Amino acid sequence: MRIIIIGPPGAGKGTQSQRLASYWGIPHISTGEVLRQQVAANSALGQSVEQFMSRGQLVPDETVLEIVERRLSQSDCSIGFLLDGFPRTVSQARHFQAYLEEHNLRLDGAIEFRVEFEELFRRMVTRGRCDDQQDIIRERIATYERVTEPLLNYYRRRKQLSVIEGQGTVEEVFQSLLAIVCRLPNQHKSRIASSCFP
Ligand code: AMP
Repeated sequence: MRIIIIGPPGAGKGTQSQRLASYWGIPHISTGEVLRQQVAANSALGQSVEQFMSRGQLVPDETVLEIVERRLSQSDCSIGFLLDGFPRTVSQARHFQAYLEEHNLRLDGAIEFRVEFEELFRRMVTRGRCDDQQDIIRERIATYERVTEPLLNYYRRRKQLSVIEGQGTVEEVFQSLLAIVCRLPNQHKSRIASSCFP
């Protein structure tokens, strides 16, 4: 199972992605998390991305692509993976598609988390991560609308996009997410297909 999760900051995609990936037994790859670890470790990579992240801007495509390709080449990804927060731009999506084709792999689906602006803002203000201050939050949401929304059209055109309302409780959203994943075209080949049809 290879899926990607797209959604604005604060949509709950981190929590749900983690849960789905462990339920499905596939690695959860969050580019935001990898980047935050690099910043915390004060590595050369961390130093180069910190300026973008602290302003709520996207890190350059080349940097993220390199991180993702390196991670996907690790053996645990051979059974599939869940990408959380990548791709974030159409250019990243095109490169990712080229990577998949080059490795004879197929994406099973892209899932969009949809949550209203006011709710996103409320959740992020209460979460209080250091890139979650109010003006940065606005910038991150604006960046999402500007850069990431065209990405939704990219997957919509490819008929690979499913939408999930991220508004309910964690449990409700997870159940809707599972229902979507179970309906993805190739799920019957999944090693956990019995989870869909017990
Ligand atoms: P996230 O945890 O997914 O909200 O990501 C936190 C921050 O990491 C974002 O605001 C960006 O600065 C950076 N980031 C994460 N994923 C990407 C990506 N695919 N492309 C560019 N920047 C990213």
